[in-house]
Amino acid sequence: MDLDVDGVGQAVGTGAVPAGPRIDDLLVRAHEHAARHREGAVADYIPILADADPEAFGLCVADVEGGLHERGDTRTAFSIQSISKAFVYALLSEAFGHERVLEVVGVNNTGLAFDSVVAIELNDGHPMNPMVNAGALATTALMPGDTAQELWDAVRDGLSRFAGRALEVDHEVYRCEAATNHRNRAIAQLLESYGRIERDPLVVVDVYTRQCALRVDARDLAVMGATLADGGVNPVTGERVVSADVCRDALAVLAASGLYERSGEWLFEIGLPGKSGVAGGLVTVAPGKAGIGAYAPRLDAAGNSVRGQIATAYLSRALGLNVFASDPHVPGGKP
Ligand code: GLU
Repeated sequence: MDLDVDGVGQAVGTGAVPAGPRIDDLLVRAHEHAARHREGAVADYIPILADADPEAFGLCVADVEGGLHERGDTRTAFSIQSISKAFVYALLSEAFGHERVLEVVGVNNTGLAFDSVVAIELNDGHPMNPMVNAGALATTALMPGDTAQELWDAVRDGLSRFAGRALEVDHEVYRCEAATNHRNRAIAQLLESYGRIERDPLVVVDVYTRQCALRVDARDLAVMGATLADGGVNPVTGERVVSADVCRDALAVLAASGLYERSGEWLFEIGLPGKSGVAGGLVTVAPGKAGIGAYAPRLDAAGNSVRGQIATAYLSRALGLNVFASDPHVPGGKP
């Protein structure tokens, strides 16, 4: 996909993001620039997602000082879907620790679709990474809680702390997906057959389906991303949600596998960890600086928001967020 950034100069940024008025100005431009794009299609494999307004488009930057910068439909609610995987993974890492999560869930790419069954078979039942459905189901299964209710409470409360408000399930989305998620049930049962899930796999799928149906908006995603950018402290509520080490680990996983099969191209163009979901949400994290939340439901062939990617690419360049960009060191200070 052409991310349409040829005319946008690559700034190199260190330290904080630029002050408010400059971000607000760039946000307007990034939104206008991406709004011209009408490529892609709204997801329909979960039938109710097809009802989304294809023109909806919200863009929000939350900086680590708690400042929120918004443009467009930032208060339009949609289901978080796969983006939840990133935050449940961070919560599990907090509970389980670096080594154990690395061993049990893994961090390597499958090179196959997010809902691949073949990937599980090829890897002796190992779920491979937490951003594919096998890894996400294994992650949810390992969350603390003896009963289904306790498991769900741990997931929902944790994601709510990232957002800084109590997130609610979109019951229509939940019901629709619960009636059609045969493939996820098959994946969970396959993982159980390999001894990779120790709870009732159908309970795990049910909690995972609810987690994917949590309602968020672009502003929530920006705040959730800013919490990962801020060493695990939500910059709006001031609450510590996870440790700084957990943020570092979660962001490394997102950099490697956050945008489905386009993760390499995304990193190449945007140079930041991110995670997309099939309802059209996209969260991007500039470590130490800000979170970017986008919502625009038309998706590319891999399932990533088209306008969300283009607007984020614009902001990454214009704000100097790409973690791989540098300028030569000038001895003695600035030229
Ligand atoms: N709930 C969706 C599924 O498991 C999430 C897919 C996605 O956003 O990638 O199929």
